[in-house]
Amino acid sequence: MKYALVTGGSRGIGRAVCLQLADMGYPIIINYASNKEAALETQRLVEEKGVKAELLPFDVAVAADVELALDTWKKEHPEDYIAVLVNNAGIRQDAMMIFMQDEQWNDVINTSLNGFFLVTRKLLKDMLSKRFGRIINMVSLSGIKGLPGQTNYSAAKAAVIGATKALAQEVGPRKVTVNAVAPGYIATDMTQDLDEDTLKKMIPVGRFGQAEEVAALVGFLASEQAGYITGDVISINGGLYT
Ligand code: NAP
Repeated sequence: MKYALVTGGSRGIGRAVCLQLADMGYPIIINYASNKEAALETQRLVEEKGVKAELLPFDVAVAADVELALDTWKKEHPEDYIAVLVNNAGIRQDAMMIFMQDEQWNDVINTSLNGFFLVTRKLLKDMLSKRFGRIINMVSLSGIKGLPGQTNYSAAKAAVIGATKALAQEVGPRKVTVNAVAPGYIATDMTQDLDEDTLKKMIPVGRFGQAEEVAALVGFLASEQAGYITGDVISINGGLYT
């Protein structure tokens, strides 16, 4: 059976992606870092659709944890493989660079960039040998445009964009596509501390986006019909272009 793994599937955009991929018939593996309660709620919502959902907690930034979790999953599912991978786990730790601490720099880079590397590397072999795979990386407007106070986050997301383009060329011949989705401001826990009233005046459509809108785009990129789209970065930002 073909499974879909969504990193950071417990909340926000990741949860909406789990529900979208469940609608497409994929059994879902919900990864998260620590918020089990939120992950259980995602599991409940997926199962409500009559689709199987498994929790797989691990820190995407810790190589040993990624190895152990995915090796254990594979042992328990010898006949199955993960055909759709959504590298969605991410954090923000904003600070002007002059005040930025080592930890703020490293944590953000390790979660987005190393998380992408560690999880994707592990799952590539099955996708290549089965000759079908969809890898979708959640990046950001910040990684395209750069945003002040986010040198760590902009660097992490820009690096994932570079890796998306390179990997797409490596795996294209085996019908594995690799794309990035770059949201602008989306209403989730991550943007709760932002001044929405001020920011939305800069957005042509006049509002923050919804997680479900991002999930619909991810769903299309994960579909069979999207087989000719690879190595691309697709913005979803209400017209807030660079
Ligand atoms: P969110 O609501 O803060 O949720 C973050 C998710 O990532 C949670 O499921 C969290 O798990 C998980 N996570 C964080 N660190 C992790 C780690 N080390 N290992 C495994 N899971 C981890 O964020 P969101 O707004 O949905 O954002 C999702 C993605 O979209 C991120 O990559 C973010 O950078 C990107 N993005 C968001 C926006 C926006 O406006 N919201 C815009 C552009 C890009 P726990 O629940 O266990 O903490």
